[in-house]
Amino acid sequence: MLTPVDLHTHSTASDGTLSPAALMRRARDQGVEEIALTDHDTVDGLEEAARAARELGLRFVPGIELSVDWRHHTLHIVGLEIDPQGPALKSLMQRLAEMRTRRARSIGARLDKLGYTGAYAGACRLADCIRPGRAHFARYLAKKGRVKNEGDAFKRLLGRGKPAYVATAWPAMATAIHAIHDAGGWSVLAHPLRYQLTATKVREAVAEFKAAGGAGLEIVNGRQTQGETDRLERLAQRHEFRPSRGSDFHSPPHD
Ligand code: MN
Ligand code: MN
Ligand code: MN
Repeated sequence: MLTPVDLHTHSTASDGTLSPAALMRRARDQGVEEIALTDHDTVDGLEEAARAARELGLRFVPGIELSVDWRHHTLHIVGLEIDPQGPALKSLMQRLAEMRTRRARSIGARLDKLGYTGAYAGACRLADCIRPGRAHFARYLAKKGRVKNEGDAFKRLLGRGKPAYVATAWPAMATAIHAIHDAGGWSVLAHPLRYQLTATKVREAVAEFKAAGGAGLEIVNGRQTQGETDRLERLAQRHEFRPSRGSDFHSPPHD
């Protein structure tokens, strides 16, 4: 986790392994002073996190990470300082929840056919049966020894173009940006270098994000090199983006 500001983290409300309160305690222990909880497509963890943060003396930023479709690539947009009651955001989250539920069932059915039976039930248990995502499937398959590790599960089965991959029609970029702004928040294009896009496409995605009203660029993400950070810093300056920094924390090491 980065210090002292971390504007990108996950809890058990999506695919993280720590509860919102446990995540806040860990952040405090790591010296973080300001933290956003940005679970995938849900605000379910915000109340618990806000309460814990208050007790721990952390400055809390309510957030979310929305999946969007951009030219058949899935990009992630982080919303920060959001009001979870924003009407456009609420209806978008409802739509996304339905999509995620359908997707989880389809992934389960594909894995069954491939001989990985029972994966849906297993992933469901790991997610407390609230919309298991691909990370839950990966964790379950790794736990059962059906794949070497979670990365292997994505590489062989769950990743884009692999046999258990289910394409999802995520909302358009502009829809997500609008929902975040309608909820009083500011939108950040998350980890721009982690979409396996060519340099040209990264520039185009960033430009379109800006044109659609996007406000910020994530220049630091937990899993990137200093060279990448420098490149993103220049990109943010050129487009006058507000820079954002986060760990994209999902689980403690050796979990
Ligand atoms: Mn995730
Ligand atoms: Mn992401
Ligand atoms: Mn994330």
